[in-house]
Amino acid sequence: MTRYIYDFIEGDRSRADLLGGKGANLGEMTRLGLPVPPGFTVSTDACRAYLNTGSPPDGLFEEINAHLREVEARLGRRLGDRHDPLLLAVRSGGRYSMPGMMETILDIGLNDATVVGLAARADDARFAWDSYRRLIQMFARTVHGVPAEEFDRELAALRATAGPDGPTAEQLRDLVETYQKIFLRQVGHQFPQSPHEQLYLAVRSVFASWNSERARLYRRQEHIPDDLGTAVNVMAMVFGNLGPDSGTGVAFTRDPATGAPGVYGDYLPDAQGEDVVAGIRNTVALPELERIDPASFRQLTGIMATLERHYRDLCDVEFTIERGKLWMLQTRVGKRTAAAAFVIAAQLVDEGLITLDEALCRVTGAQLGRLMFPAFDLADAPPPLTVGVGASPGAAVGRVVFDSAAATAADGPVILVRRETTPDDLPGMIAAAGVLTSRGGKTSHAAVVARGMGRTCVCGADALRIDPERGELTIGDRVVRAGEVISIDGTSGRVYPGAVPVQPSPVARYLAGELAPQADPLVAAVHRLLGHADAVRRLGVRANADTGPDARRARALGATGIGLCRTEHMFLGERRELVERLILADGPDEVTAALEALLPLQRADFTELLAAMDGLPVTIRLLDPPLHEFLPPLHTLTARVARAEATGRDPGRDGRLLAAVRRMHEANPMLGLRGVRLGLVIPGLFAMQVRAVAEAAAQRVRDGGDPRPEIMVPLVGDVRELAAVRAETDLVLAGVPDAPAMPVGTMIEVPRAALTAGAIAAQARFFSFGTNDLTQLTWAFSRDDVEGSFFGTYLERGIFGVSPFESIDAAGVGRLVRLAVAEGRATRPDLTVGVCGEHGGDPDSVAFFADAGLDYVSCSPYRVPIARLAAGRAAIETATDTSDSR
Ligand code: PEP
Ligand code: MG
Repeated sequence: MTRYIYDFIEGDRSRADLLGGKGANLGEMTRLGLPVPPGFTVSTDACRAYLNTGSPPDGLFEEINAHLREVEARLGRRLGDRHDPLLLAVRSGGRYSMPGMMETILDIGLNDATVVGLAARADDARFAWDSYRRLIQMFARTVHGVPAEEFDRELAALRATAGPDGPTAEQLRDLVETYQKIFLRQVGHQFPQSPHEQLYLAVRSVFASWNSERARLYRRQEHIPDDLGTAVNVMAMVFGNLGPDSGTGVAFTRDPATGAPGVYGDYLPDAQGEDVVAGIRNTVALPELERIDPASFRQLTGIMATLERHYRDLCDVEFTIERGKLWMLQTRVGKRTAAAAFVIAAQLVDEGLITLDEALCRVTGAQLGRLMFPAFDLADAPPPLTVGVGASPGAAVGRVVFDSAAATAADGPVILVRRETTPDDLPGMIAAAGVLTSRGGKTSHAAVVARGMGRTCVCGADALRIDPERGELTIGDRVVRAGEVISIDGTSGRVYPGAVPVQPSPVARYLAGELAPQADPLVAAVHRLLGHADAVRRLGVRANADTGPDARRARALGATGIGLCRTEHMFLGERRELVERLILADGPDEVTAALEALLPLQRADFTELLAAMDGLPVTIRLLDPPLHEFLPPLHTLTARVARAEATGRDPGRDGRLLAAVRRMHEANPMLGLRGVRLGLVIPGLFAMQVRAVAEAAAQRVRDGGDPRPEIMVPLVGDVRELAAVRAETDLVLAGVPDAPAMPVGTMIEVPRAALTAGAIAAQARFFSFGTNDLTQLTWAFSRDDVEGSFFGTYLERGIFGVSPFESIDAAGVGRLVRLAVAEGRATRPDLTVGVCGEHGGDPDSVAFFADAGLDYVSCSPYRVPIARLAAGRAAIETATDTSDSR
């Protein structure tokens, strides 16, 4: 029979798939001998069985009872005992942390009889009745979906009338009675008095919460698979709300925002665990605990040091102190900002806990990308409106909105302003540029979720009075209405009126060579890890650049060549007219004249590019887009011609252009006369471009330079297309004195080219995968249309987790890539292979290309450092094959 339940002592990190992250880590802590309340984990297998069939697997509850009896025996206390009842916490915990997305029910086991026993044992009737009312409310919401409002109203009313010490035990008992009536009315039956029934229903509802709307949305956002299911942890309750010598807190072994060493966290005296995470009351900083309870503080910091050494990483913990006794409720390798990830990884190397290879695998290209974002230019900032807690760094400017719906509906950037956020605010947080709350600290829901998403966030700005009904917030006598622009600084926590100008990040400045590597700990860490990535990576990183300034920027950012120069970008602006001349040319002489006019301009462009990349390869792609893209749009020409005709003027050139546009109209231009087809159809076009490259290179040679141009032919589908262009190219090159030899290669961006790569390689010195077109043509997705039209539905329905234009579709497009590499190299073993589609700068795709054996990736200049880092990680991960990119 399948086994579904594991005692905490049986758990360890290697079983996180089965036990969830929380269950596996409770196992680790239990094995380390740390003070974990006894309990057990219901496995993800059980959840998956429930999700597949709609009911828990056979025998599950018997198995729960057997493990429960062990917990009871260990504690000498039974569930449902009227004199000394055991109470249980039931918490979700999937493979990957999904903060606040699934359910928790505390105080399972209380009923009308055991509440009296608990009051006697704790010698605190107020506490017992307060726990009972918490259970009824949590149970109603979680198991039966009853909204919290009605309960909250009753509680608020009671608090308003209670004395300075809060409600009395009698008042709370009356409140429980009211809660039971609300429960009966809303649910249709009495609150269940059987503790075992409470437990089973709680477990079931945690299973079901895996598929709640907010959990599904979160998974999509974080690319967590939908079919993993959650484990359920059942643990003996310990109480932080038993008076001033009790409390609860959340702590990090280092600062999760900056990476600065030293324990860090929030503590809430006389409170239950969920109060801290929900950001309901304002917490005190962890060092305060040293004053309140020095012994527990010392024990806690000792445990945190043990955990850091054990996990060799930043850990976060949740703990509770029950009447002076410390209990550890949870630990995990903690989430952190991108900056903290770099700083901590470098620190851990210095502390001898991890190697440089491991450190590199602790940071991602996406995190590096985030650090290259700009920050506020404080010289031009007005005095702040207020200062909250800088919970997730970045500089966000936007119009104020007060709810998630307004954030998702807004045009342009917004700042979502809430008293505190709940998981229901997730869509708004995704849509907003930044999040601002008046309550909660760095570990509140808003902070944790925003950090995970890389969204700028300021929390706990408690001077804000937020009035969503009136659509305004006030700070002192200053009023800010919905729609007004504010700026929030997620590092300093400052909130400014209006739009504060932004300045580049120190990391971006360092990467551009404007800041020394030792400028600050973050820059130093980036320098070190990127340097290590460069030392270990096998993939080259080139840039897609079309101009001298772009090429110089790319080179400064570490590009070792240009992988794609799109020459069509040289035909824009004032030069459009020359292309029009080419299109309107009447007879070979006019064609030649038009091409002759373009030649010197192209030559000058190439000279600048080759100079900027002196000594490095520069891959120049011959003209690719359909020529009518260079003509004015049909409706503009029609209007101009109509105006001319209406006033009796001869439309002249416009008339000829209009005729040309009509003649050249294509129903599917991306499948029409473009790429190599243009070169074959318009005599002299490619020859002119090749001559311009050759003459520019020859001039560079004469000037003492080291030009390394490569000629690349776009959109080839058959080897004969390439052979024809090569023959023409060879002729041109032979006629330009001093021109250095230059390889001719092809893009592989048509599926047929990939499928016939073996033949094509006979004519190509190099391949460069144009994965934009290759994706478009493999999926039959018009790349200009689909992302805006139906990709939303596809992502929502899980057809794919990320757009295949963003991250390479390894199973389909990637298969063509692998095939073409293998067959191309079979024909020509020294074939150079790269990629120049957008995927070349996407960290996950870079890992794929490294694995597929490419020689280089080419991407936009600002993504060059991201690709360098990703390529370094990929080299280490393929060597050790322990990849876990999350
Ligand atoms: C490609 O198709 O991937 C490519 C780089 O070419 P373009 O995007 O210019 O079509
Ligand atoms: Mg293309």
